[in-house]
Amino acid sequence: MVLSKTLHEQGPIRPPNEAGSLLLRLTRNCPWNRCQFCPVYKGEKFSRRSLEEIKSDINRIEESVNKLEEISWKNGMSGAINRDLVALIHARHPELLPVAFWQYHGGETVFLQDADSLLLPVEQLKEILEMLKEKFPKIERITTYARSRSLLRRSVEELSQLKNSGLSRVHVGLESGNDKVLEFMKKGVSGAQQVEAGQRVKETGLCLSEYVILGLGGSDLWREHAVDTAQALNKINPDYIRVRTLAIHPASPLHERYTSGEFKPLDDDGVVKEEALFLDHLEGVNSAFYSDHILNLLEEVNGQFPDDKQMMKAVVEKYLSLPDHKRELFRLGRRTGYFRSLDDLENSVLLSKVEEIYTQLQNEGISVDQYIENLMRRYI
Ligand code: SF4
Repeated sequence: MVLSKTLHEQGPIRPPNEAGSLLLRLTRNCPWNRCQFCPVYKGEKFSRRSLEEIKSDINRIEESVNKLEEISWKNGMSGAINRDLVALIHARHPELLPVAFWQYHGGETVFLQDADSLLLPVEQLKEILEMLKEKFPKIERITTYARSRSLLRRSVEELSQLKNSGLSRVHVGLESGNDKVLEFMKKGVSGAQQVEAGQRVKETGLCLSEYVILGLGGSDLWREHAVDTAQALNKINPDYIRVRTLAIHPASPLHERYTSGEFKPLDDDGVVKEEALFLDHLEGVNSAFYSDHILNLLEEVNGQFPDDKQMMKAVVEKYLSLPDHKRELFRLGRRTGYFRSLDDLENSVLLSKVEEIYTQLQNEGISVDQYIENLMRRYI
């Protein structure tokens, strides 16, 4: 997700559920930058922003909040940051838009960018967290991405200090629990280290969100990927498990290994079979499970473990038991935005729209797979 220019500096991405959060950049890019599937920071150099730079950004954000209130009063909106004000800011003061958007969403959440904020010295991080809480008392949640390697450099004591200063949640890219997959993808960390880092975060009481990439083992390692990832998560028991499906970006190193035949990706049906095995092996966790990424075919696989496990498995099994043509139509409907859930196949209006596209593709000699592959690239 590429973000717009603002008076304070922002990085290029955030987790899907931080759409309404203030984005504050503490470091630029990724200190590791070698993961094969990841195109985000390739060609960009990692750097740490100085404490002074970050503090002046926080001051600028405060000024922007005050300015927004002033504009609201001047335009008869009594200081409120509502939809009309956001539209006005969009048209006349686009540099204030990210802060206006944050305030419109309540001004309660902050996401610290970029890929590995916890590399900064603990004392600096504490100062930043405390300044944010002091300037914006409405803040309820401050989250960040962190690499497991960096988390392992932090003691439980240090992580607890960050929690006490206002850090609420850590988002970790587990991606896989299988060592072969992690090594092939050059994640720079082993399954055991991912587990240890996750357990350390949980020990401090910080909220932990672990990300998994469905399809990351390709057709050679899908079983090991599914089982070992579930087993790693069983040991960590994170608060959230979020899945996203692999799509190979042309700018990622994985693309070359795909075109050379070294990496053989799973097709949609293969990914769903893998997801079934993954769900099956998730045991003893109390995590909330989310499929909230546009790349996921089955967006409706959401729920709370352990209670909703059977319900989530039932969705996956329902898809796999559909006749071939229905599965193909569902994939096409989902990727073109007409379908959100399997029940949409029963909606005759939506179904006829998807059938129209299907017929058109057939007439033009374009395969559904080829068409979907091109669509998916736009979502990465
Ligand atoms: S650690 Fe994260 S941001 Fe860095 S290369 Fe890997 S996936 Fe990309």
